[in-house]
Amino acid sequence: MEPGGSALAGETVLFEGTTKKVLQAETDNQVVLEFKDSKSLFDGEKRAEFKGKGAVRLALTKIVFEYLESYNIPTHWGKILGENRVQVKKLEMLPIRVLIRNIAAGSLCERFNLKAGTPLKYPVLEYYLKDESLGNPMISESHAYAFDRCSPDEMKHISRLSSKVNAVLKAFMERRKLKLVDYTLEFGRLQNQIYLADEISPDNSRLWYIEDNGALKQNYFRLANNKAEESFRAILKHLTGDRNL
Ligand code: ADP
Repeated sequence: MEPGGSALAGETVLFEGTTKKVLQAETDNQVVLEFKDSKSLFDGEKRAEFKGKGAVRLALTKIVFEYLESYNIPTHWGKILGENRVQVKKLEMLPIRVLIRNIAAGSLCERFNLKAGTPLKYPVLEYYLKDESLGNPMISESHAYAFDRCSPDEMKHISRLSSKVNAVLKAFMERRKLKLVDYTLEFGRLQNQIYLADEISPDNSRLWYIEDNGALKQNYFRLANNKAEESFRAILKHLTGDRNL
């Protein structure tokens, strides 16, 4: 693989997003996801860019997806091909993003005048249409199937799977002294089956340390914060217990 992780001659880039490239794998029904170092946006907040960010995001995503697989949650995972590349099932992605909230933070606080850090009595599932030309609007479950973005059964399935992912991940993070505040999930279909896809990392989630309530007042992953790299690596160390990272 090229050091920068770009496509080599002969590789077909199927799609280039803001934080990942999707390349055709050698096998027809597989794609290679290349995690880039670029900055991203989550819940209206800009996340920082640093060298090696793609590799840290991939390492974190690997831990989480392998853990979810061990709980029989169907995911697109995968074989690691390099420090920022993984081969996964090629899915027909559903243009819906599920945002799961366990603790009030970010835009939820503004919308409902809640104090950041307030635990929610039940998890809140919000659905967003992935359509930049419309500004990725929030939708209800019925919008998704009324607009024919998925079937009613698929929507029900996505919602059930999201709740299961949340129960498993929340407990996983809590055992590692982290609070899973909120995060997004994406799903895709393959032969009438729905799989969890994309990534789960601090790029599309808010994780707080239980002991300091996530240094609630300052989100370390923010663009403006020069602690972003340190914070991403600290989370990785926390999840792997590897002190040499
Ligand atoms: P964005 O679309 O927000 O710019 P990325 O930069 O992360 O996102 O681009 C990655 C793209 O790859 C996303 O559109 C995502 O839906 C898609 N994707 C993730 N997993 C798979 C998969 N297993 N098969 C096909 N596409 C996938």
